[in-house]
Amino acid sequence: MCIQTARCHIGIGQLPLRVLASILLLSLLSAVGSAAEQFLTLPFRDSAGVEITEGWVYDEPGPFWCEEFGDRCHKGVDYARPNGEAFEILAAADGIAVASRSPGGYGYFIFVRHEFASDGLHYFTLSAHVERGSWVTPFRALAGVKADIEAGDFSAWMPVLRGQKLATAGQTGIGVGVHLHFEVDRGGYALNKTDPYDIEDTLASGRYPADCGSRYVWTECPPIHASTEPRVRYLRQNAPGEVGKDIWTTSVFCYCDGGGGPGGGLDNEALVVGGWGDLYWALLQFDLRGLPSVAAEAYVELQMYQTRSGVVTPITLRRAIEDWDWRLAGSGSDLERLWWADRPDTEFIRDLPQPVVGERYRIDITDLYNAWKAGTYENYGIVLNPPDGSNRWAEFYSSGHSEPQLRPRLVVIPVAQ
Ligand SMILES: [Zn+2]
Repeated sequence: MCIQTARCHIGIGQLPLRVLASILLLSLLSAVGSAAEQFLTLPFRDSAGVEITEGWVYDEPGPFWCEEFGDRCHKGVDYARPNGEAFEILAAADGIAVASRSPGGYGYFIFVRHEFASDGLHYFTLSAHVERGSWVTPFRALAGVKADIEAGDFSAWMPVLRGQKLATAGQTGIGVGVHLHFEVDRGGYALNKTDPYDIEDTLASGRYPADCGSRYVWTECPPIHASTEPRVRYLRQNAPGEVGKDIWTTSVFCYCDGGGGPGGGLDNEALVVGGWGDLYWALLQFDLRGLPSVAAEAYVELQMYQTRSGVVTPITLRRAIEDWDWRLAGSGSDLERLWWADRPDTEFIRDLPQPVVGERYRIDITDLYNAWKAGTYENYGIVLNPPDGSNRWAEFYSSGHSEPQLRPRLVVIPVAQ
């Protein structure tokens, strides 16, 4: 699932030592990277109908230490058919292959060790979320796969040829819909992940998709059918402790010890819009650093899970026109919630369609996003209002939800170069 481009906005002086070490290492790696490393063909059949639905996520300060930034990183490329149909996954080069299962997000996956190596480390490709039982290779428990790599003993794996069918795309593990998560690793399981499109280079230079950058690993570029326009998406999710934030607040009751007034919500797993005599607002702000300066499309996606009364509230989109951060200042008794009196002034943008319980709610903010990036407006985020407090509700999951895929997210599709 996920991108941020490229640009590192953190000053070098702020970087921890091991990150600096990684940068030096990365520079060395890029220096040795060359056209000689182009060894992969398309990892699926019928490429005409398959699109890139999510690209590599570069996050600050970079893709090679994403674990420090939690779920904001995506170190692979997702391919899917717009209609959600399955497709065949192919070996992208000769090698030896095994199927396995990850308890984490991959679900069932195929792992192929290729002959091609760089600096003595063999390349592997990983195809995740495959349909259960669809593989043609032997199956090994993940611990066995890791042990095989460690020992250099691949006797349990099966030789495969470039273009040979490996499995069928599915939706096992964490992910929405049938898709292939394709990953290029160097040296072992989920190690030294490589962006096959070198998005960092290509987007920065504006050459995509005519050129795949200087460190790409395909035999040709673009490695998808010519009639299919690649759509690289940038995805930004808020998570606790990050620059972006979201919260809900209320006009009367205080969701604090002792209750009563003067109106304040909770910084919990929910974002509540509605009211019954009173008003509940949801506020969201995303960290836009490193995202494309001009978007063809930008939207916020929220997962709606319930309405308290059985009736869904209409929602109005507004933009906040002043700063708000309950963690830094508050007029109430604590800094745990956004107090009603501290809510920002807003400006009306437009009325939104009604959300549906159990579905993702997509809010188009393309104009707003571009105005934020152009500096026309300061990015103080968006506010979702009910028209009144007539016991109509919409509850969405917030960035505080434990499952990343249910949290709010900002999706940005850049203008084609
Ligand atoms: Zn993915």
